[in-house]
Amino acid sequence: MGTNESHLFRYPEAIKEEFLAGADIVLRDGTRVAPAEIWAYLTEEGPAKYPHIYDQSNYFGRRISGDVGLSYALKANYLLMTMNDRISRAKARGVPVVFVQGGQSVDPYYAAGAIGLRPASTGIWARRKETGLSRNEEDLRGQKRRQKAYNEISIEVCNSAGYEHIQDGLAVDMIAPFSCLRCSDVSYGLEAHRHGQRQDVKLLLIDYPLDHQRDKEWAITYFADNLRRLTRSIDELTGRTTTADDLSAEIKLHNEGRRLAVEIADLWWSAPVPPTNGKDRRDIFQMGGMEVHADPTASLSVLREARDLIAKRVETGVHGLGVATDASRIFICGSCVSPNEYRVEQAGGIIVGNDNHWSDITTIVEETGDPYYNLAKAILSYPYEQPIKERARWTAEQIKKSRADGVLFLYKWGCNTQSAAARMIVDEIKAQTGLPTLIIEDDMQRSQTEQMHNRISAFIEML
Ligand code: SF4
Repeated sequence: MGTNESHLFRYPEAIKEEFLAGADIVLRDGTRVAPAEIWAYLTEEGPAKYPHIYDQSNYFGRRISGDVGLSYALKANYLLMTMNDRISRAKARGVPVVFVQGGQSVDPYYAAGAIGLRPASTGIWARRKETGLSRNEEDLRGQKRRQKAYNEISIEVCNSAGYEHIQDGLAVDMIAPFSCLRCSDVSYGLEAHRHGQRQDVKLLLIDYPLDHQRDKEWAITYFADNLRRLTRSIDELTGRTTTADDLSAEIKLHNEGRRLAVEIADLWWSAPVPPTNGKDRRDIFQMGGMEVHADPTASLSVLREARDLIAKRVETGVHGLGVATDASRIFICGSCVSPNEYRVEQAGGIIVGNDNHWSDITTIVEETGDPYYNLAKAILSYPYEQPIKERARWTAEQIKKSRADGVLFLYKWGCNTQSAAARMIVDEIKAQTGLPTLIIEDDMQRSQTEQMHNRISAFIEML
């Protein structure tokens, strides 16, 4: 099943001159990628290698945004498409890849000289290894592999967390998630890998104390020791010794990304009409997690450019492409589910924020003193991991800042913590904000996506 060429998105020549005058992307290994190289990739190599990314024939997937004046979005697309090429080059230099799960900040993984990848990024890397696939071929391939993973892990599992890619030979060197409150998938996944085909993958569980962990001194020092255990385990792969100075430098770099993402969010939320569409918003807000491109230095380049562009759009009153001037603003709560932003906009809404990774992005790590202790203290204080009432109050504050008109709590079937907490969190948010709310359970299969969007459209109509 080939790709219909007429459905393929093309970047217009009219923006080329301005794009070429922009800044380079600086990669972690010091390489600079000039805009001319990025443009050539996006207009020639990218469409040939990954036609499904350029396919505009239906609403689903990560359709390229047509808001082509946002040069940062073009650069983010370049980084996402070159994920396999860049990781392959790093691996050839001996850089290990470590799988991260549980919403943890990736500072210690990079401090130890590894590439830390969360489940979604692991999936992006795996998908970039197959080229020339149409949208349908790519969808079918993904569904089949995920089904195989469900069969091998457990029927109760919500998300396969990249299990299928790793067990099928994706060159992940170590699996090192942490046992936090938000995610019941970590234990299923780790155990399944223990019994899987890939006996060469190193396994490590980082033990995360629960229950008012933020206020207990023993919990902070215990978790700091777990972070030391993590960097020592990565050292066994690299043969080097990670120092406290390495971690301090990494924390500073990641703090810059976190601060930039918060600054961008404040700017974005301050505009009477959003300065970008929902997809371009999600991409920059998430970039503050410093992991989506498998290269925090590159993400930082893109974030700096995004901050300047968003500031300019807000100052001059430019609206995001396709966003209605009276769009209903929706805040999303819950893990691992995200509606298709284009569908939401078509129904007259706009997604203005979400709580999940925003919780770690907004947590700035102290930069003086023992970096392991500081990082442990910060991670144990993530609002998303606090007792329900406290998490809900923090979420309500973010909702108020975002000037949302309504709140959607989405969770996946099988997501034990989020499904149990949804009602209580939403009730508290309602009490704090007075906003209309809706809870929707989703599954990983496309069969339910249409139903979810019908319900979201009805919610937008009501708003
Ligand atoms: S849906 Fe829930 S249990 Fe599944 S990976 Fe996400 S947070 Fe974890």
